Amino acid sequence: MKRYSAFAIAREAARHHTGWDRAWRDAQPKAKYDVIIVGAGGHGLATAYYLGKNFGITNVAILEKGWLGGGNTGRNTTIIRSNYLQDPSAAIYEKSRSLYETMSQDLNYNVMFSPRGVIMLAQTQHEVRGYQRTAHANALQGVTTQFIGPQKVKELVPIINIDGPRYPVLGGLYQARGGTARHDAVAWGYARACSDMGMDVIQRCEVTGVRTEGGKVVGVDTTRGAIDCDKLGGVVAGHSGHLCEMAGFRLPIESVALQALVSEPIKPCMDVVVMANTVHGYLSQSDKGEMVIGGGTDGYNNYTQRGSFHHVEETVRALIETFPMISRLKMLRQWGGIVDVTGDRSPILSKTPIEGMFLNCGWGTGGFKAIPGSGWAMAELMAKGQSPLTDEFSMHRFREGKFIDESVAAGVAH
Ligand SMILES: Cc1cc2nc3c(=O)[nH]c(=O)nc-3n(C[C@H](O)[C@H](O)[C@H](O)COP(=O)(O)OP(=O)(O)OC[C@H]3O[C@@H](n4cnc5c(N)ncnc54)[C@H](O)[C@@H]3O)c2cc1C
Repeated sequence: MKRYSAFAIAREAARHHTGWDRAWRDAQPKAKYDVIIVGAGGHGLATAYYLGKNFGITNVAILEKGWLGGGNTGRNTTIIRSNYLQDPSAAIYEKSRSLYETMSQDLNYNVMFSPRGVIMLAQTQHEVRGYQRTAHANALQGVTTQFIGPQKVKELVPIINIDGPRYPVLGGLYQARGGTARHDAVAWGYARACSDMGMDVIQRCEVTGVRTEGGKVVGVDTTRGAIDCDKLGGVVAGHSGHLCEMAGFRLPIESVALQALVSEPIKPCMDVVVMANTVHGYLSQSDKGEMVIGGGTDGYNNYTQRGSFHHVEETVRALIETFPMISRLKMLRQWGGIVDVTGDRSPILSKTPIEGMFLNCGWGTGGFKAIPGSGWAMAELMAKGQSPLTDEFSMHRFREGKFIDESVAAGVAH
């Protein structure tokens, strides 16, 4: 595949852009692959990419029931940070954040990584103590964060009101190298790189059954016929429960809609990402100028992939005290995705009761930031049967009581 470069753009400009290749092949399913990945979201594509790049495994198919990146990967608000509390989380999220730093060069695809800084506001004494504790934990984990006071918050975010009567800003946990990236580009960049390695990215191919023999996976049934495989990776986010049901076991996970919305575009006014977890709201400004706004999950389990009016009202109402300018903004559009939430708000990267079948799910409301690190770790787990980054994230931790409690860091925020 031709590399993208300034020279290539100039050359194509001179010949009316007639020489570009398709970014990835429209592949037809083969009868058998070494590895099948179900789900062409960011995590599935990243897993396939690192299987090829780090382990030379390229006889791989990535099966997607819709279009690639059409799940949560293309629906999130793109916040990237690694300031988690527990050691196993900090390790995988920081690995991920560091991979984002060089992802555009690595994939030869501009994913618009923008390390503009992320602030998690402390608006109650409880949050002050919680974030100070996280800042200390991060220092020990080698993750660069700091707890900053309200004046520093105001300096970084001039449009903020730090003197709200109900929820004044008492400080914030600040990660200067956190930020955002273009979510579609992450999926497209990985898909292009996988296709370039000879892998088959197959869209409109839904997995409808998991075939096993003697407790070992041997293939899947799909809407485009049966396909055999030696190893299977289930990376289907909100549909993980369904997939595991097909394989004959239950998963400790719930699916719930998470919504977001954007305003009309306005002039640049905020160049950091701000999350206000007490009031359930967060916002950043996109390169187009829209204010990208998100809130909490729906209060009941569901599989809807759309927005609802009450969510716009609740989220905007929550943020108005801290960001009064929001009251003057028109909201342009809203949407939803099905997120997969575990009891301890940490992901599952695990072998399963079926030999040869692996799971990557449970990223809940905060898995965009984890895409490269999760793909890196999942590829190692699938190739070698073990990865230091996934050891603690087994699905069996719920039976054994070895939770990785990230409810403070991940219950609401992204
Ligand atoms: C509104 C919203 C805001 C968010 N904001 C953030 C944020 O700011 N920062 C952050 O880090 N995270 C955020 N997240 C979470 C993040 O988007 C997800 O954790 C992440 O994208 C999950 O990626 P994935 O690849 O696991 O899943 P997905 O991208 O959902 O991919 C799974 C794919 O599997 C496919 N699939 C399902 N079943 C089958 C089947 N049977 N056969 C074939 N294919 C199948 C689906 O069609 C889908 O494309 C947000 C999520 C939402 C919804």
